[in-house]
Amino acid sequence: MKRYIIALDAGTTSSRCIVFDRTLRIVSVAQKEFPQIFPKDGWVEHDPDDIYFTQLEVAKAALEKARISPSEVEAIGITNQRETVIVWDKNTGKPIYNAIVWQCRRTAEACEKLRNDGCEELIRKKTGLVIDSYFSATKIKWILDNVQGAREKAERGELLFGTVDCWLIYNLTGGASHVTDVSNASRTMLFNINTMSWDEELLALFGIPSSMLPTVLPSCGLFGHTDPSLFGVPIAISGVAGDQQSALFGQCCFSKGDVKNTYGTGGFMLMNTGDTPIFSDNGLLTTVGWTINGKTSYVLEGSVFICGAAIQWLRDGIGIIDKAYESEACALSVESTGGVYFVPAFVGLGAPYWDPYARGAILGITRGTTRAHIVRAAVEAMAFQTYDVIKLMEDELGCRINDLRVDGGACANNFLLSFQADILDKKIIRPECIETTALGAAALAGLAVGYFSSTEDIKKNIAVSRIFEPNIDDVSRSSKIDLWHKAVSRALSFAE
Ligand code: ADP
Repeated sequence: MKRYIIALDAGTTSSRCIVFDRTLRIVSVAQKEFPQIFPKDGWVEHDPDDIYFTQLEVAKAALEKARISPSEVEAIGITNQRETVIVWDKNTGKPIYNAIVWQCRRTAEACEKLRNDGCEELIRKKTGLVIDSYFSATKIKWILDNVQGAREKAERGELLFGTVDCWLIYNLTGGASHVTDVSNASRTMLFNINTMSWDEELLALFGIPSSMLPTVLPSCGLFGHTDPSLFGVPIAISGVAGDQQSALFGQCCFSKGDVKNTYGTGGFMLMNTGDTPIFSDNGLLTTVGWTINGKTSYVLEGSVFICGAAIQWLRDGIGIIDKAYESEACALSVESTGGVYFVPAFVGLGAPYWDPYARGAILGITRGTTRAHIVRAAVEAMAFQTYDVIKLMEDELGCRINDLRVDGGACANNFLLSFQADILDKKIIRPECIETTALGAAALAGLAVGYFSSTEDIKKNIAVSRIFEPNIDDVSRSSKIDLWHKAVSRALSFAE
C-alpha cells in the first residue's frame, strides 16, 4: 500500500492542506480562507474555531480529492503562522478571547514601556528577540489584563495558552496533548533559547503563570495522535515548525551557513547558524530552527518589510502594470533602469537601516524615464534589499556563503533571480516545489516516523528547478550597489 504524509499549513489568511508522497511530490492541495477580524485600527484577530475547523475541513478535502483513505496517511506535519496567541479554558476547551494575530499592534505601547524600563538587553540575551508587539508575551498579558476574570482563572491553573500549532494539536488530539515545538516556543518572548526552557524571570515580568504554558517538544517526534472520531483512525502528528523555520527545513538548509529567502509580500531571510545561537548587534533576530534527535539548530532571521508588495503597489497603487508577473517582461523590455532607483521604504526600513521614518522614493528620473524603467527598478529593489540583509548575516556569521535558496510568489520572476545572482555574486537556487513551508513540515513529520530515513534521504527527493549564476563584472556590481545605497540614504528619515 502506498503511504502519504500530510502537511497542515495554518497560514494567516487561509488554512491549507498538502498531501505529499514518498518522493515529496505534491499529490493534492486544498485551501480555505477564513475571516480576518479588525476590531480597531491596527488590531487583528481570528476566531480560533475558524482556524481549527477550516484546517480540519481542508485536511479531509485534500485526502478526498486524491482518493486517499486516512489509513494510508503515515503522519501529519503542522506548520503555522507564528506568534499568534490563543488562550482557552482548560475545562471546556473553549477560547476565552479571539486569537490575537502576530500583526496586531495593540501592545505597541506596552512594548515601548518595556524598552523604556531597560528590558531590551535581558530579553535579547534570553530570547534572541527584540521587544516588539509581534511576539506572543505581551498579547497573552493583554488577554489576562483585559478579559474579565481571566487573571484569576489563570492563577487557579484553569487557562491554557498556545500558539496556532498548539491550538490545532490540542483540538486534533481531542484535548489530550497541550504541546508545542521549540521553533514556535522561541517566538513567544518567554522561551530561553540558551537553556531551551520557559524562562521564570520572563514569566514573572509578564505576570504569566507557568501552568498556562504548553510542554515544549522537539520539532521532529511524536506530538500526539488525532482523535479517532476525526478521521476514523488515529494518525500520528510527528512534525511541527513555525512557517519560516519550516520553509528553511523544506529548502534543505540543514547545515550551518545555508540560507533561504522568501520573496512574498515581505521578504523573510533565514540562515542556519548551526548548534550555537549568534546574537546580532544589528537587529537581526536569533531564533530556534528546529530540534532533531536532541540536536538544536539555531537561525538568524532578517526581514524586509516591503518586497513583492512593491510590485503590488505598481499594480494596485499606481496601475502601471495589470498583473504581478508582467513586471518581468516589462523589466526586460529595457536594458537597464536608466539610472532609476526605487527605494520601497513605504513603512520605514528594517535591517540594516532600522529607520521607521524612511519613506518610499524613486530617484534618478530624467525625461527619458519610462514606465519600464520604474518597474525594473522596483524588481531590482527586491534584490538590493535582500543583498543588504545577506551581507549583515555574513558579517554576523563571520564567513561568506555560496548560494541562496529562494521561494515565495515573486521567485517566479526569472529576471529578479538572475539580477539577484549578479548583485550577490552567488548562485541562486530555485527548487521545483516552491511550497517549501508545507514541504518542511511534511519532511519533519516523515523523518520522525521513519518514512524518511535521514535528512540526506529528504534532500535526495528535492529537485532543483533552476540555478541562476552570476554574470556581471565586479566594477558594474559595486557601482550598482553604491548607487542603491546612495538612493537609500536619500530616503532615510524623510518623515521625521
Ligand atoms: P504572501 O504569501 O506573502 O502573501 P506570496 O508568496 O504569495 O505572498 O507572493 C506574492 C507577492 O509576490 C505579491 O506581493 C506579488 O506582488 C509578488 N509577485 C508575484 N508574482 C510575481 C512576479 N512574477 N514578479 C514579481 N513579483 C511577483
